[in-house]
Amino acid sequence: MSARVRSLLVALGALAVLAVAALGLVLGAGPLDLGTRPPDLAPGPPAGPAATPDPPSSATPAPTEEPGPLADLHVVLDPGHNGGNAAAPAQINAPVGDGRGGSKACNTVGSSTASGYPEHAFTLDVALRAREILRADGATVTLTREDDSGIGPCVDERGQSAGRAGADVLVSIHADGAADPEVRGYFAIVSEPPLNDAQAEPSRALAADLLAALGAAGFAPSSSYPGALSERADLGTLNWAERPAVLLELAEMRNPGEAELIESEEGRRRYAEAVAAGIRQWAAGR
Ligand SMILES: [Zn+2]
Repeated sequence: MSARVRSLLVALGALAVLAVAALGLVLGAGPLDLGTRPPDLAPGPPAGPAATPDPPSSATPAPTEEPGPLADLHVVLDPGHNGGNAAAPAQINAPVGDGRGGSKACNTVGSSTASGYPEHAFTLDVALRAREILRADGATVTLTREDDSGIGPCVDERGQSAGRAGADVLVSIHADGAADPEVRGYFAIVSEPPLNDAQAEPSRALAADLLAALGAAGFAPSSSYPGALSERADLGTLNWAERPAVLLELAEMRNPGEAELIESEEGRRRYAEAVAAGIRQWAAGR
């Protein structure tokens, strides 16, 4: 056998070894040990309490870590007005941009029931309750104010809040103060004409879901606005919005029957549940 033939045979033999190794891989014999095996040969866990089997099912189950149905939703709730506004006229009357090239007051004092329960207290109470309901479903909820003793924020800041927070939606919570006690009912306000895409159809869809939820909860629709929908160009909170946004007037504060609802914890709980239900419905359909 010549040296040349011998070296050829050696090469063929090496190829055969490689082929067998490759076949082993294909047949699931496991990867070749190339020195990168993870340290799975470490000693097992020490015997002791950690190895004790789980106790019987009489124990309370650990809280579930499963995300709620609204885990991918970020809501900004904007409780209208603020408890400190009335005592700070210079600040709340200071002009801010209205979002359409004009200006308007930073904020206003808001309305109240005939007995003096203020809109700012009502809107914060409903927003806090709605936040708890939405959080229980996993949503992230940001409020434009956390208490009822401050001033503002101004309407431009309220309007921009959802965009700045990276939120999906803005719901501004109010109650109307029509002087006529016969006037009653909830209505939604949207920006018209819309200044961006979010203020157009998405905001109208949000309004429709919120109005449907308030109706389903047994509240009365507005006696002033057909379809309980009002379109306005002059509200800074809506004009500055870069996300779907609605300003909700939940009730008429000067209507005796609605004032009773507004002033009762049960009424405020029902308003909050309706707001949360409307947002939930909107989130499901987006
Ligand atoms: Zn208001």
